[in-house]
Amino acid sequence: MKKHNFSAGPCILPFEVMQKAAEAVVELDQIGLSLIEISHRSKEFVAIMDKARSLALELLGLQGKGYQAIFLQGGASMQFLMVAYNLLENKAGYLNTGTWSDKAIKEARLFGDVVEVASSKDQNYNFIPREYGVPNDLDYLHLTSNNTIFGTQVKSFPKTGVPLVCDMSSDIFSRQLDFSQFDLIYAGAQKNMGPAGATLVVVKEGLLGKVSRKIPSMLDYKVHIDKESMFNTPPVFAVYVCMLTLQWLKDLGGIPAIEDINEKKAKLIYSEIDLNPLFKGFANKEDRSNMNATFTLADEGLKDTFDAMWKEAGINGLNGHRSVGGYRASMYNALSLESVGVLVDVMSDLERKA
Ligand SMILES: *Cc1c(COP(=O)(O)O)cnc(C)c1O
Repeated sequence: MKKHNFSAGPCILPFEVMQKAAEAVVELDQIGLSLIEISHRSKEFVAIMDKARSLALELLGLQGKGYQAIFLQGGASMQFLMVAYNLLENKAGYLNTGTWSDKAIKEARLFGDVVEVASSKDQNYNFIPREYGVPNDLDYLHLTSNNTIFGTQVKSFPKTGVPLVCDMSSDIFSRQLDFSQFDLIYAGAQKNMGPAGATLVVVKEGLLGKVSRKIPSMLDYKVHIDKESMFNTPPVFAVYVCMLTLQWLKDLGGIPAIEDINEKKAKLIYSEIDLNPLFKGFANKEDRSNMNATFTLADEGLKDTFDAMWKEAGINGLNGHRSVGGYRASMYNALSLESVGVLVDVMSDLERKA
């Protein structure tokens, strides 16, 4: 029986997407060949890549607005350095809201001056800083929209004259935003889009070509855009599954429809965390993530009982990241409201038992 999968990443994908992907590994669309044995330059795969790229722009509302979508490799972590390689000439600003921001800052420092415009590190990243200034001489300001490990999410983005770059690995396609406020968005596929191995980069073309350094071809956004994301062999399976997931989302009604479900899931878990005296939320209330809910037990003595109960209920992947401890319920797009209901029932059962 399929488990209720709260894993943080890689994580749950729509069941019908996985079924179609499994079929395509055996035979793609009755062509007598597997998806993973055909040339990436075949007309079949070129059509898959084109569709994945255009669906990404369409769902984000960025079609015809001067943006390009490309699928790269190396994970979101490769983007930590690629962003700086392509955009950082003098000085960049970073909002430090978690482990991933911190790693992005470390890479950017190899290329130029980095100012941390604000940081929540000294509170173990349990909140999103507000009311910080943004110098107007930055090459760009980098934010992490959702802090996967700590369970915080940026609810409103700074209005600034400098280009905005955002790591949306763990909440892309989950909520409505004016995506045109960003100049570059990147996201590793393995949280809301597909299997590990592909990273979506959406970039405004006018942003590129401004740094004076030479950029190796594989790390140059312009090269990948010019070659329509086929400069070298792309991760064909990962891109195919991303395409299927984006099509699934479009058929469902796009981001507005999934946002509605995601808000219901978040409301359900957070109201249980707040009402049940056995649990404590980790993140500052107004900064809580709709994707990753982090919480701990008020009494660690109940750990073994609770762990046995949720495992018995068919729940997977609830352990918190080691830097926070406790629990993390990751509720990506493909996780159903029903699965969150199962978890909430276990939490209230524990209260009845204890
Ligand atoms: C998971 C994650 C990353 C790292 O992604 P990789 O693909 O493993 O490099 C970066 N940023 C955020 C916000 C993440 O959730």
